[in-house]
Amino acid sequence: MTETDLDRALGRAWRDDAPWAVLSRLAELPNRLGGHEGERRAADVVADAFADAGVRGVTEQTFPMTRWTRATASLSVTDPVERTFETTALPYSPAGAVTADLVDVGYGTPEEIDATDVDGNVVVASTDTPPDRRFLHRMEKYGRAVDAGAAAFVFANHVEGQLPPTGALRFDAAGEIPGVGVSNEAGEWLREYAERGATVSVAVDAATEPGESRNVTGVLGPDTGEEIVVLAHYDAHDVGEGALDNACGVAVLVGAARVLAELDLGRRVRVAGVGCEELGLIGSEALADALDLDSVRAVVNVDGAGRFRDLRAFTHASDAVSDLVARVADEAGHPFVEKSDPHPFSDHWPFLREGVPALQLHSESGERGRGWTHTRADTRDKVDRRNLRTHAMLAALLVCELAGADDLPRVEAASLREAFREQAYESGMRAAGVWPDEWG
Ligand SMILES: [Zn+2]
Repeated sequence: MTETDLDRALGRAWRDDAPWAVLSRLAELPNRLGGHEGERRAADVVADAFADAGVRGVTEQTFPMTRWTRATASLSVTDPVERTFETTALPYSPAGAVTADLVDVGYGTPEEIDATDVDGNVVVASTDTPPDRRFLHRMEKYGRAVDAGAAAFVFANHVEGQLPPTGALRFDAAGEIPGVGVSNEAGEWLREYAERGATVSVAVDAATEPGESRNVTGVLGPDTGEEIVVLAHYDAHDVGEGALDNACGVAVLVGAARVLAELDLGRRVRVAGVGCEELGLIGSEALADALDLDSVRAVVNVDGAGRFRDLRAFTHASDAVSDLVARVADEAGHPFVEKSDPHPFSDHWPFLREGVPALQLHSESGERGRGWTHTRADTRDKVDRRNLRTHAMLAALLVCELAGADDLPRVEAASLREAFREQAYESGMRAAGVWPDEWG
């Protein structure tokens, strides 16, 4: 491609309002939780935006999934005081009612759960991770609580603002014990009551049943046998607008596709909006299953980009991807915050697990944890459209470079497993149920 083509495409992207428009259309839909009507309508929004971007052969492919529908949830302290707290059921919580002692497991680390009398009791765990450790995912904390015999799981936000957090408890399947979220402020009280030997009642009414969702895919560039897959999840939790998580990512993907459509690409680029990420990567699993992964040279997962100014590049144990990111950052004069440690909790995972080099684009708030995401405060007013545009331009540059790259070795299972072990991830992934069987 000529410099002029690239400059022209980037210049147009600099004033392109299509990313903001697609974000707005997604944010105003009610309930984009996987398998629900809002998610189905969101797929059509994504398909329209892809077609408008110049993506060819845009189609929707359905896949079966486990749909979860909330009804009611409650949490009351019955002793030493009588008091009710606002609460939100966590997706895949089974229906059920429990009255038991309340115990505080702090962050919910393995050591804290081991040191607490969890059996038969209701546990309260923070959404936070100890500062000196790798991220501890909610599924890991829940899995350990279940294994230790807990009767119910209470997930207390560490972010202030009276915001009960949400988040799925299992991958694409009903959990074993009720799980609910409470605000930071409620969590503070619950920890005190736990110390005073409190009894609590937790009740959830919800339905878990077979459902259906869909991926939206199309292609850009030449029809080569090999391709780069660029995806973003368009589903969201039902408690808020899912503007940050992950309408921002979809907007960045659409903006990037609009740039890529104007460029001469070295290989085909498959663009995908995937469903049901929040319920356990169900859409990306279906997509990885449908593709011949030997022909997928790399996957780019846009989950977290577009939210904050500084783009973060997670290179997931691939030196080749890491070098490529450094080169693009240098040429563009936009430093990325790079992290090379792999994690299995987003849509690159079904690809990375099979050895496909993976890049996840995120962005840096400087704060700890998920911020407003997974709460009702995840709304459009938090989004700065300049970040959508800049990240779309940078994503396009990265994808273009990946499409032209000849040296992208697979990520060997042995080195990936080693990278997870180095982060002491193995037992956590086992507790969450994501440690690959073939890894022993
Ligand atoms: Zn997400």
